[in-house]
Amino acid sequence: AAKKSGRNRCVWFDASMERELQQRNDLEQGLRVGIPRGEIVPYFEQQVDIATGKLNGFEVLARWEHPTRGIISPERFIPIAEETGMIADLSMSIMQQAFTAARDWDPSLTISINISPWQLRDAWLAQKIIKTLTETGFPAGRLEIEITESALFENMALAQSIAGSLKNQGVKLALDDFGTGYSSLAHLRALPFDRIKIDKSFVTSINESADSAAIVTAIVRLGESLNLPVTAEGIEDAAIEARLKAMNCAKGQGWFYGKPLSLIGVRRFLAERHMLLGMPAASKVEEM
Ligand code: C2E
Ligand code: MG
Ligand code: MG
Ligand code: MG
Repeated sequence: AAKKSGRNRCVWFDASMERELQQRNDLEQGLRVGIPRGEIVPYFEQQVDIATGKLNGFEVLARWEHPTRGIISPERFIPIAEETGMIADLSMSIMQQAFTAARDWDPSLTISINISPWQLRDAWLAQKIIKTLTETGFPAGRLEIEITESALFENMALAQSIAGSLKNQGVKLALDDFGTGYSSLAHLRALPFDRIKIDKSFVTSINESADSAAIVTAIVRLGESLNLPVTAEGIEDAAIEARLKAMNCAKGQGWFYGKPLSLIGVRRFLAERHMLLGMPAASKVEEM
């Protein structure tokens, strides 16, 4: 009986692995046509001053508006785009759309864009980003690039040169998902980061887990010592916000402030707050 169930289990794994592989291939083919068709679109998540609630800007999060499957999460398609090299085109398409949108926003607002460590192998990455900034007319000084802490940069010299070119233009760099990668502290010194983002896994559990609270406290203090501002992501409720406020964590984002907004959603959101440029008619209508 044991042998039989063992064999059944094997068969079951084979079938599910085959399904998984099939689905992955479908997504890969879908991405190949979907990226040039503009199906990968930016969503925008508010980033705020925790102490005052003031809006600083938005993090750009990619979404795949699949023609038949609905919205697909980046957790699903970014790894495929990375493995196939499509991440470069995908990323430039997201930047192009996000810069074009953000050009019409109040000049106090910044945007943060995620790039994959894989992109740091492209010797032309900084030039491509700067070219897209120039073409869209979005100022480099209002752009922050988020780099996920993972099995970081295999070509450190190249990564440093890309980071240097971007910083020369006034672009800022943030170390994303801090605390989850290995040898976090070494990563902090690898590139000239301007900000640390605490991984949401610690933040969402800050009031349930003493360990999470200790880790968040330590990262906030580390930021203070290194003179690096800290952003907490994954603020889901008022109790989490209160906890971070008490620690003097400067910036935050998360569902408590708002779910990520579509291009249309973010325009409406900013128009309501009179933070869209060149829309005097719209704001007049609202004041009536
Ligand atoms: P990330 O950069 O760490 O982004 C934060 C993730 O947390 C986002 O997931 C966001 O929707 C989610 N989140 C925000 N607030 C909350 C909250 O209060 N609670 C919880 N539980 N989650 C929250 P999303 O949009 O699914 O993105 C996942 C990851 O995909 C991102 O993590 C980022 O690493 C990657 N990604 C997204 N867009 C891009 C892109 O354009 N390029 C690249 N290379 N990676 C991207
Ligand atoms: Mg990010
Ligand atoms: Mg993150
Ligand atoms: Mg992440």
